[in-house]
Amino acid sequence: MSFDQDTAVQRVMELMAIPGDSGREADVADYLIGHLRAAGAKASWISSDQVQKRTPLQGNTGNLVCVLPGTVRGPRRLLMAHMDTVPICVGSKPVRKGNKMISANPSSGLGADNRAGCAVTLIAASEILGRGLDHPPLTFLWTVQEEIGLHGARLLAKGSLKSPKLCFNWDGGAANKLTIGATGGYRMEIRITGLASHAGGAPEAGVSAIAIAGLAIADLQRRGWHGAIKKRGRLGTSNIGVIHGGAATNVVCDEVTLRAEARSHDPVFREEIVNEIEAAFSQAATRVTNQEGVNGQVKFRGNLDYEAFKISQDHPCVKAGIQAVSQAGLEPEFAVANGGLDANWLSARGLPTVSFGCGQVNQHMKTEELMVDEYLKACQIAMTLATASENT
Ligand SMILES: [Zn+2]
Repeated sequence: MSFDQDTAVQRVMELMAIPGDSGREADVADYLIGHLRAAGAKASWISSDQVQKRTPLQGNTGNLVCVLPGTVRGPRRLLMAHMDTVPICVGSKPVRKGNKMISANPSSGLGADNRAGCAVTLIAASEILGRGLDHPPLTFLWTVQEEIGLHGARLLAKGSLKSPKLCFNWDGGAANKLTIGATGGYRMEIRITGLASHAGGAPEAGVSAIAIAGLAIADLQRRGWHGAIKKRGRLGTSNIGVIHGGAATNVVCDEVTLRAEARSHDPVFREEIVNEIEAAFSQAATRVTNQEGVNGQVKFRGNLDYEAFKISQDHPCVKAGIQAVSQAGLEPEFAVANGGLDANWLSARGLPTVSFGCGQVNQHMKTEELMVDEYLKACQIAMTLATASENT
């Protein structure tokens, strides 16, 4: 599937030059809307939700959606990318040097993560509309606030997407990479309150928060709930990564704060890990008492960073992805992300989503680069996926 490569190069350079870190994506959205309209998209096809009003950070725009009726029959396909960059990329001055694009501003990153994704999806939409190419029903989605916690995808109203059957996301990495899963992560803070007393004069009057923490950690470690966890064939991990407490050796410590995380591809098992951690600390608190029988207290605070997912290699979106990457002359490679992607939230809502890279290297760094040949391959892959009409 051919497309105008010069335009594709121009679009990505223009997009990377737009300042727009998380919460400030409005100029990026305006750029996309302008080009969609110029290519022939009707105003009624384009909508922007108001998720920025419900995100922790008040953003200046919401997720952008463009819904195209099909010219041929076939299951609806969704193509998406996030619009924000990390703050270090604000001030990017994209220049091309041979096959690479970099920022000429030495104090900024390039912003190819994820303006290259925006460009790839925009090229697919504008080529299809501008050249009148046949295509199945399509939904284009550009999300906000991905980099600071997947907020746009997390709060997205599924109904606005018009029930896509095959979903494709473009984000950082190589063009031949198909990310078909990611680990779900839960982060927690554990606050133990004991009772302070003089460690030499009246230790029996105190309740040591450190002793409670020690008992709980030892219990988790002994029973196999800390580190790599394997129970009844289920896999996960947990880590108590931070521990703070105490001020002096002559005081029974009355406060310890710990930070921990739990991960698993299996959301039910991840919850079980979290429950085990909470139970270990709660029980340890009952086992440390002072002479009057006073216990320590434990409080937990936690939140799910992102939901886990794993798409079967037989799923139509994975099959279509493999085919499109192969058609572009590349060898498909599968990956499972250890962090969060917008695809985590779509997949968690019953919209399994394959993520591709578009040639970004060193994302989130000043040394970020975009490989032009890979970016153009990503455009080709997006064109193939957006115009395929077989009833997969
Ligand atoms: Zn990204």
